[in-house]
Formats: sequence, structure tokens, C-alpha cells
Amino acid sequence: MQCDQCNGDLIAIPNRDTFLCSDCRHYAFATDLDDPSEPIELTGDPVGVRCPKCDVELQFAILHDRWRVCLCTNCRGYVIDSGCLGVIVHELRASYRGDDAKPIPLNPAELEEQRSCPACEQPMETHPYYGLGTAVINSCSHCTVTWMDHRELASIIRAPGFRHGPNSSPIPVKLNPRPKEIQDESSELAGRLIVQAATGFFF
Ligand SMILES: [Zn+2]
Ligand SMILES: [Zn+2]
Ligand SMILES: [Zn+2]
Repeated sequence: MQCDQCNGDLIAIPNRDTFLCSDCRHYAFATDLDDPSEPIELTGDPVGVRCPKCDVELQFAILHDRWRVCLCTNCRGYVIDSGCLGVIVHELRASYRGDDAKPIPLNPAELEEQRSCPACEQPMETHPYYGLGTAVINSCSHCTVTWMDHRELASIIRAPGFRHGPNSSPIPVKLNPRPKEIQDESSELAGRLIVQAATGFFF
């Protein structure tokens, strides 16, 4: 398979429905952005901060019809509020009715990857999440945001292990201000506030 931007070779990223061009770093995908395993709807507004992998501007988007995220349209990675991520994983693992995925060995190279927080530009912490080999995620404890690569959430939902019952109590999550209010004053505010406001519940 060849890159549609430069005709370079595309390399498959295992378990992520993703291909990366070895020449120009352009991504290609096996599924559409609204695929039910991890549906994302772009709202089309720029966030004002950049993707830590691709250096393109992030855009506001809605994940699973309900959660505000800041999406990179090149790599399909997104920033999400770390507390919201915990709620999403709780709810979607409880309601998942498909087969568990077979555990896969962790790619040690992923643990070596350093990414800067899109909000405060300091290095994020890199750590395995939800069972060995399921996903390696990056989070900033200062901004309480997490960077998720495309399909990492879908892998976490399918991972074997404990699932809450369908009627278990949800985890409470603190609400952030709505993005419009913050956007109006964005010249006065750091990227951290913009990203925090852009991620969370979508009403
Ligand atoms: Zn290319
Ligand atoms: Zn990107
Ligand atoms: Zn940060």
C-alpha cells in the first residue's frame, strides 16, 4: 500500500487500523472516523494548540456522541480529560458485549516515546494502561489530560479482565467550563485552559 500524498511505503501499525508513511509521516486508516468501535465527529473548530506527534492544529470533536476531545485530523490521536477517560473506560467496558481481544505483547518502543503535552508543552508521562500490551498512553498530571492514539480506546474496551456490571454507579467527574466561553477570551489564556475546557462532557 502506498501513501496518497507522496507515494511512499505505508507501514501498518498493529491493532490500530492505522498505516504510517515512512517518508512523509502522513497517516492512512482502514476505517472511517465515525466507525462504531471509536466514533468521532469533528465539529470543525480549531483549538489553538498543536498535535504532539504531527505538529498540526487540533480541532474540537465529539467522541462516542458524548465526550469533548481535541482531535488531530492527520493521526486521529486526541487529547481528553484524564478523569473523563476513566469514566468512559468504566462505562464502555461495562456495556461491551463482544469477545475479549487476545492479549498482545507490549511494544517496548512505545514506552520510550516522549511526547510533549499539547496544553503546557512539558514532557508527558508514558505508561501502559489497562493490562499488559493493551495500550501505552501519555498523560500530563499537571493539566490532567491524556493523549490517546487512534484505536487505543477501542483496544482498552476489548481487553480481557474485570468489567463493572451494566448498572454499576458511574464515577463522578468534575465538569469543565464550556469551550465557547473560553474561546472568546483565548488570547488571554494559556493553552492549558483551552484544552481543559475543550475536553470533558458534551451537552
Ligand atoms: Zn507519504
Ligand atoms: Zn497528529
Ligand atoms: Zn500539560
